[in-house]
Amino acid sequence: MANKRIVIVGGGAAGLMAAIWAAGEPHEVLILERMPSPGRKILIAGGGRCNVLPSQVRANQYHTESSQSLFKKIFQSWSLPGQQRFFEETLGIPLKIEEETGKVFPTSDRAADVLQGLLNEAMRRGARLRVKSSVEGIIRDGACWRVSLAEGETLEADALIIATGGLSVPKTGSDGTGIRLVRALGHTTHTLYPALTPLLTTYRPHHDLAGISLNVTLFAPQGNSIKKGERAEGGFLFTHRGYSGPTVLDLSHHAVRARGSAAQPLLVQWLPMDAEAWEALFLKSAPTTHIRTLVRAQLPTRLADMLLEESGAMERTVAELRREERLRLVECLTRYPLPYSGDEGYKKAEITGGGVPLGEINPVTMESRLHPGLFLCGEILDLFGPIGGYNFLWAWATGRLAGQGARHISEV
Ligand SMILES: Cc1cc2nc3c(=O)[nH]c(=O)nc-3n(C[C@H](O)[C@H](O)[C@H](O)COP(=O)(O)OP(=O)(O)OC[C@H]3O[C@@H](n4cnc5c(N)ncnc54)[C@H](O)[C@@H]3O)c2cc1C
Repeated sequence: MANKRIVIVGGGAAGLMAAIWAAGEPHEVLILERMPSPGRKILIAGGGRCNVLPSQVRANQYHTESSQSLFKKIFQSWSLPGQQRFFEETLGIPLKIEEETGKVFPTSDRAADVLQGLLNEAMRRGARLRVKSSVEGIIRDGACWRVSLAEGETLEADALIIATGGLSVPKTGSDGTGIRLVRALGHTTHTLYPALTPLLTTYRPHHDLAGISLNVTLFAPQGNSIKKGERAEGGFLFTHRGYSGPTVLDLSHHAVRARGSAAQPLLVQWLPMDAEAWEALFLKSAPTTHIRTLVRAQLPTRLADMLLEESGAMERTVAELRREERLRLVECLTRYPLPYSGDEGYKKAEITGGGVPLGEINPVTMESRLHPGLFLCGEILDLFGPIGGYNFLWAWATGRLAGQGARHISEV
């Protein structure tokens, strides 16, 4: 079998996984990473603990404008238990499930162990890593690829894997150069936007609530229908600038895509109690009970008081509360429109929405449909999932396919 060179552009989650599956005699596998060290997002993921995978996953939790059937083909290529086994048995990284969130972490709670495990395995199989090597140009020259680095050097490759990520948190190395490179080769991108990013508000009363966190249900209705829209249940945090927490991050793309217009309301139900449960509570309480006593008993006091002030029910007893006031209060408690005015953008976004359409790659090998010998994987593709390990799952699955695909083509 001929000795072929496979070059991987980007030493992040997808690139390292691709290297593991591409490497092995007789081929030469070289990872080019522009930063002084690889895998910077792996290290900051999950607050430094790296939420490697989810413990359960459904395909409909992902967002893409590409064909669902292409996505499912890729998604089903490496089962969740298969991925877990790979981390535990092949990489030697024991995993644990965090019960309250269902997220999977290394038992050591150290993201560095995940990065080291991936690097060790890639090196053990014979891959090499070159850091401070930013790829600035790619051209096809007959049967080979010419890859030019920022310093002026040009390298040759028989197969090329692009694993340069998206635009999120550019200081980790993913500033969009990879997207520019694939566009120059004729690939298109579905509209790119920051996702899983905190939201901002100019509404002052909410700045005063900074630090309050609670479990909520957040709705992004479709048209007027809450049922048809998307919803997220879990943590919500008031920050000094706006809103964060898992529910806000998970639905932030709706706000980002509407970019602050009133077209996309995000509605909060502050507690598991829905409108019926609140009505029932008011009905069964003694007429002399202060409404504020009932609401403060359920919610953090500063938040309860803000909602009571806004609904005009602060000074009312159960008997004094007029019907319109009661309806307004219940609305505030269960369908509160979040007055967001913007978002934190790519600087804080955990992922990039949009990207290269899945229709432009072969879902079995991740090979470009435009260029034989070119493979794409990870965040550069048009797909993202919620927080909870879903995005690494995608990076691992697509990285593996691309590595196998590149290895296979080099063997033909
Ligand atoms: C703060 C934060 C926390 C996160 N936490 C989690 C989590 O806990 N669980 C989860 O599932 N997901 C998490 N994510 C998302 C996850 O990190 C990404 O989905 C994943 O890293 C994407 O992998 P990737 O390899 O495609 O891109 P990246 O990890 O971004 O890797 C791309 C690599 O390519 C390099 N590169 C870019 N351009 C070039 C070039 N021209 N030449 C050479 N090298 C280049 C970059 O320097 C980088 O190292 C988090 C993201 C952030 C920002």
